[in-house]
Amino acid sequence: MNTEFERREFPLEYPFTISRGTQTTAEVVVVRVHDDEGTVGIGAAGPSAHYGETAGTVEAVMPDLLAVVERVDDPENVAKVEAGMRTVVEDNPAARTAVSIACHDLAAKRAGLPLYQYWGLDAEDSLDTSYTIGIDDAETMHEKTVEALDRGYTTLKVKLGTDRDEELLETVRNAAPDATLRVDANEAWTPKEAVRNIEWLDDYGVEFVEQPVPAEHTEGLKYVYERSKLPIAADESCITADDVPNIADRCDIANLKLMKTGGLREAKRLIHTARAHGLEVMCGCMAESNASIAAAAHLAPLLDYADLDGSLLLDRDDFAGVPMPAGHVDLQAVDRPGTGVQEN
Ligand code: MG
Repeated sequence: MNTEFERREFPLEYPFTISRGTQTTAEVVVVRVHDDEGTVGIGAAGPSAHYGETAGTVEAVMPDLLAVVERVDDPENVAKVEAGMRTVVEDNPAARTAVSIACHDLAAKRAGLPLYQYWGLDAEDSLDTSYTIGIDDAETMHEKTVEALDRGYTTLKVKLGTDRDEELLETVRNAAPDATLRVDANEAWTPKEAVRNIEWLDDYGVEFVEQPVPAEHTEGLKYVYERSKLPIAADESCITADDVPNIADRCDIANLKLMKTGGLREAKRLIHTARAHGLEVMCGCMAESNASIAAAAHLAPLLDYADLDGSLLLDRDDFAGVPMPAGHVDLQAVDRPGTGVQEN
């Protein structure tokens, strides 16, 4: 087996602003794993600075991670690759995830099956992704909402965490009276603010509220959860399966992201752990290429909510993945083995 990696940069369609800041491009690191018969598995890292990773940190550890793949030299044994990666690089989950995706893509291709079938999942259990409306001035958020509806998206995730949250949410709701709206505060509120905000968010028919308070404020999350009319999703508070027992009594929904977990096997472990603790499960993403989003899409049958718009937010993506017409994660349309990723 041999391996390679390269950095790619994709512009976002709109500057993407959340409570913590603005991003205009998505830097990804694409990984390819070749078996000896010429089959290639593709994966990618979509690193997040919030979790201490950049394209540079991914590139820095990638030779060590890919050395594990070459040392294991068994395209079917993804478990051994993932365990081996953990011994050489303890952190850097996005980098490890990129390799995990490429190895899963390769193994499923060798089996001749789309990844969801390789996992024994039912494509009919797939669901729709939300489409994110980032923070902006009210006029731009109105335009973005109208455009999202034009593209057929019926579930919108609205980023909040400003001093004009109600104005922004009202703008989106007025533009999209029938859409399902979810709200993500990205840790911006104090517990008391969150409880107050959730009162009026409920009046606007919001479905649930994601990460209202800072991740380190674990008691604050509990305070909000116990007083909230709306379900609470934990994102920044939920990195790997090990976090699930600690959040199980203070949220309703665990939001996993491949780039936080460190691999597809860990992502599935998180899903099953969350279920065992009575939580619902959402899979989110960073601003990512289809080279990694496609793998998350194959988890859709295991989810209650999908927030897999990472590539939909890009102005250009060099990779095609799982089709998402009008936001439906259409696994039944995957007509290739593996994750379905191919370079455009
Ligand atoms: Mg979030």
